Amino acid sequence: PISRCGFVAILGAPNAGKSTLLNRLTGAKLSIVTPKAQTTRFRVLGILLRGPVQILLVDTPGIFRPRRRLDRAMVRAAWTGAQDADLQLLLVDARAGLTDEVRDIAQHLRARAREGAPQAWLVLNKIDLTSPPRLLPLTAELNTLASFEQTYMVSATNGDGLDALQSALAEAMPAGPHLYPDDNLTDLSDRLLAAELVREQIFLQTHEEVPYGTTGETENW
Ligand code: GDP
Ligand code: MG
Repeated sequence: PISRCGFVAILGAPNAGKSTLLNRLTGAKLSIVTPKAQTTRFRVLGILLRGPVQILLVDTPGIFRPRRRLDRAMVRAAWTGAQDADLQLLLVDARAGLTDEVRDIAQHLRARAREGAPQAWLVLNKIDLTSPPRLLPLTAELNTLASFEQTYMVSATNGDGLDALQSALAEAMPAGPHLYPDDNLTDLSDRLLAAELVREQIFLQTHEEVPYGTTGETENW
């Protein structure tokens, strides 16, 4: 079998389930998940091996309308990462549906497609929370805003539909050598992962008291 390898950028509004999807696909806790929007602060790489194919999944901080300078830089970084990927996944919370944020992102995708951006696939997530009849109109509407080569309907929490998505991703990756050792799960260091897990617990356990600005630092390993 021919060795293949490619980058897949996971795009979407905050809370679409990007980090949950990355964790579920890699089977590891790489990106922290909380019910708060904008938990993911930096790019997280998940390395997925499917036979001879290495799929490099990139979880991005959500794309949203930035107000602060730091946020603007984060959103810009997310789009730059997507531009360099082999494939873009637009993850949409199917229950929330076509929000202004999703509309913005889809329009941005369409504008970027004209500039030779990588192909985009639509992934409707959280189908465990919605009824099937709602999914088709949503798919149709989103396709009027941007053009998606493929559409998948999944639940990142219970795993529905993920096998089909993963197989299709593997097929779509270009021929080339694997860029990371096959037994690696991420390029993040253990120290950083530890600090992130602590930050996640701070959010989960003190969600009403602690502001978003919380950060963790590993002093000792
Ligand atoms: P991100 O901001 O896009 O990275 O979203 P997260 O992965 O942090 O998820 C946001 C929230 O949605 C969390 O509370 C997740 O548990 C929840 N979530 C993600 N995917 C699903 C799903 O498929 N079904 C359900 N019911 N909840 C989900
Ligand atoms: Mg996230």
